[in-house]
Amino acid sequence: MHAFKFDPVTLPPNTPAFRQEIREFLTRELPRVPAERRANCWAVFDADFSRKLGARGWIGMVWPKRYGGHERSALERYVLLEELLAAGAPVGAHWIADRQSGPNLLRYGSEQQREKYLPGMARGEILCCIGMSEPGAGSDLAAVRTRAEKLPDGRWRLNGQKIWTSNARQSQLMIALVRTSPLDEKNRHAGLSQFLLELSTPGIRIQPIVDLVGHPGFNEVFFDDVVVGQECLLGVEGAGWRQVTSELSLERSGPERYLSSFALFVELVRLAERMDSETLRHAIGRLTAELWTLRQMSVAVAGMMQGGKSPAIEASLVKDLGTIYQQDLPEIARAIAESDATTEEDMADFLDVAQYATMMAPSYTIQGGTTQVLRGIVARGLGLR
Ligand SMILES: Cc1cc2nc3c(=O)[nH]c(=O)nc-3n(C[C@H](O)[C@H](O)[C@H](O)COP(=O)(O)OP(=O)(O)OC[C@H]3O[C@@H](n4cnc5c(N)ncnc54)[C@H](O)[C@@H]3O)c2cc1C
Repeated sequence: MHAFKFDPVTLPPNTPAFRQEIREFLTRELPRVPAERRANCWAVFDADFSRKLGARGWIGMVWPKRYGGHERSALERYVLLEELLAAGAPVGAHWIADRQSGPNLLRYGSEQQREKYLPGMARGEILCCIGMSEPGAGSDLAAVRTRAEKLPDGRWRLNGQKIWTSNARQSQLMIALVRTSPLDEKNRHAGLSQFLLELSTPGIRIQPIVDLVGHPGFNEVFFDDVVVGQECLLGVEGAGWRQVTSELSLERSGPERYLSSFALFVELVRLAERMDSETLRHAIGRLTAELWTLRQMSVAVAGMMQGGKSPAIEASLVKDLGTIYQQDLPEIARAIAESDATTEEDMADFLDVAQYATMMAPSYTIQGGTTQVLRGIVARGLGLR
């Protein structure tokens, strides 16, 4: 039987100085982030802030310099992400480009695609979205029905629909998973390909979907006879499944999978300073121990990726445990809020963050692969199914 492997990691020696540099930048550029915007900040869209990070060299940090990157290590990038998430910085605009679309282009893109798009992504000017889910194809991603057919002149014609596409309206690019050969029930993963689509292409229509929080971050994206050239194919025709699964490892392994509700943890600690509650102190002790363990596991995954490994099982486990943690936090917060020991004065920022984190919590089980599906991946990786 296989076993989990979380290799211990030592962060680079320049880490304390780098943290200091990031904190000074954040104090200057983001003197006060409103409480309710600090939770789940990697979904908060602020194109100006992303451009500032790009100018500072903090997008595409690990990419080669010839594509606008900065050739820093994956662990330095990890430190940056930790600091940004802990501060509640609004990093949603460039998050997808930095985390997965850019690396996907580096791995599978043509030289022309890399030169055309990566420098703009690294400046925070070209923003990307993920075109995977469709009505009827979420967990069962191989069921995608959006179709690209090859025309006699070598171009492609796309028809179909994507759904739940975060930030599609504000993005310039989508990497879309589509079917380029009819579905073969015996080999459902065959016949899929990825396309790099400029969202201004005629025939693409984007319609917002308002979420539970009242925010129109989701979108439906429709493709009606969208004709694109061969240069929009990303990687190899028919290899879309292999490409998309390696993209999903990038999507699942980052610190955002356990730090989305960190703002609420901070507010709980602030509350504990003002409230004499043994229950709250115990809760914070437990949450701190869990947070620290999750962090060690998450850094280990980053270290393994830096070493060229592909820790898909470990990444899935971190995402699953991170989700449980992020859903426990608002529950604990609610119990505190309902206790008699608190006053409104104690609670202002705490309630704002708790309310937002509570409404966002259900989505953590779904986004980036549902809990049940991730547990299936872990079980298969361990040889249990
Ligand atoms: C905040 C957020 C942002 C998102 N952003 C994007 C985006 O930018 N681009 C994009 O493409 N998608 C995005 N998604 C969509 C997300 O990837 C899908 O919602 C997810 O993959 C689940 O698919 P589904 O909604 O079709 O649910 P389903 O797959 O229908 O799942 C419904 C339930 O059935 C369970 N289930 C399904 N299959 C199995 C199985 N084999 N075994 C056990 N249980 C199973 C699931 O665990 C789940 O509980 C986003 C979702 C969220 C919540």
